[in-house]
Amino acid sequence: LSQRIDKAVKNLKGKGRITEINVATTVKEIRRALVDADVNYKVAKQVTDEIKEEALGRKVLINVEPGQLLVKIVHEKLTALMGGEEEEINIEGDPAVVLMSGLQGSGKTTFSGKLANFINKKRNKKVLLVACDVYRPAAINQLQVVGEQIGVEVYAEPENKNPVSISQNAIKYAKENNHKVVIVDTAGRLAVDEEMMKEIEDVKNAIKPSETLFVVDSMTGQDAVNTAKTFNERINFDGVVLTKLDGDTRGGAALSIRAVVNKPIKFTGTGEKMDAINVFRPEGMAGRILDMGDIVDLVRRTEDMFEKEEMERLNRKMRKNQFDYDDFLSQLQQIKNMGNLKDLIGMLPGMNKVLRDVDIDENSFKPIEAIIRSMTPHERQNPAVLKEGSRRKRIANGSGTSIQQVNNLIKQFEDMRKMMKKMNKMTKGGKRGFANL
Ligand code: GDP
Ligand code: MG
Repeated sequence: LSQRIDKAVKNLKGKGRITEINVATTVKEIRRALVDADVNYKVAKQVTDEIKEEALGRKVLINVEPGQLLVKIVHEKLTALMGGEEEEINIEGDPAVVLMSGLQGSGKTTFSGKLANFINKKRNKKVLLVACDVYRPAAINQLQVVGEQIGVEVYAEPENKNPVSISQNAIKYAKENNHKVVIVDTAGRLAVDEEMMKEIEDVKNAIKPSETLFVVDSMTGQDAVNTAKTFNERINFDGVVLTKLDGDTRGGAALSIRAVVNKPIKFTGTGEKMDAINVFRPEGMAGRILDMGDIVDLVRRTEDMFEKEEMERLNRKMRKNQFDYDDFLSQLQQIKNMGNLKDLIGMLPGMNKVLRDVDIDENSFKPIEAIIRSMTPHERQNPAVLKEGSRRKRIANGSGTSIQQVNNLIKQFEDMRKMMKKMNKMTKGGKRGFANL
């Protein structure tokens, strides 16, 4: 632990505050959180390895808190991995044909309706819905109910049990009736099986869709990846629809599917209603995965711990009356890093006095920092030697301040040390010290 603190302090005093220590521990936790958020382990490992490298590479960017920077890096990485940009679907054609695929219950029929509504209203194109689920008697009816709701015509042939000829006939019908987009809803099974695969493959080969979508229930977590892989190998789909994201599912499937099959996610479904359709935004999903995996919290906690260790180190030195100018500088650094300065000044014993008269913003620290940095290491660690006027004069010259300013700071620093001493006595020999900084 002491090694860790030493290193942490070195980094506080130096430039980079993203250090190998907090990156390595945090990255490990991030990996666990990603897996918790349903991201496939291999994908999570690859992602976090890359994040680690990048975080360490960005050492010098110190204007942001390391935790924030790390979150930002993770967010960027996840976004990029999910394609970065929104992906359009291809509905150009006369007519354009969209084919739905996926397991039973994944949300194909519901999404067919949503997409028809979306294209009808947002793209202003006349749509035809096609019922090709020939196995369940209620399936045609379900699509018809959906079609009525959104005012889109549904093509069905209740007596025909051949999805290939139904879809071919539907396309003919669409041409004759001026439908610009045909959405073909197909049957699914509870698990991947040969018959279903053959059927969807036959339909695809026969109608040559401009867009084949694979619909997957995001609540199926890791299974979603395997299903996506099997469907993709067989029918080489163009895009993914991730449904049921309105539940408390974490969306890690989006990341895994994209990484494993390398096909864009194009839409998400967030409810049973016809307007619960969203164009997939990689950035938004990255945020969701971060939040759901509690990564934001986690990184904050790690960061707090980091700050706390430094605080504890300073406390120990205060208790032993060893608080010196290096510690003073480190404390200033921390105050600056904490953000809302005015609220925080009062939390540090003695600090409020030193800074009482300054208008508090980052610049107010500059003369103080300059003075301390102009002290030699020996002077910083042994404040008593600063009694000599020649040293004060040299420091004033070196820091571009007046002797008056240097004197003031030294006086304030000595007052601060006196106060720490007093407080130590009050707290029974300093056992509890400044525990509640
Ligand atoms: P299919 O068998 O693939 O055609 O799936 P369905 O479209 O029939 O959907 C199966 C069930 O999931 C139905 O009860 C739908 O209402 C429901 N469902 C579909 N999409 C969503 C969604 O995005 N959110 C929620 N909460 N339910 C959905
Ligand atoms: Mg269906």
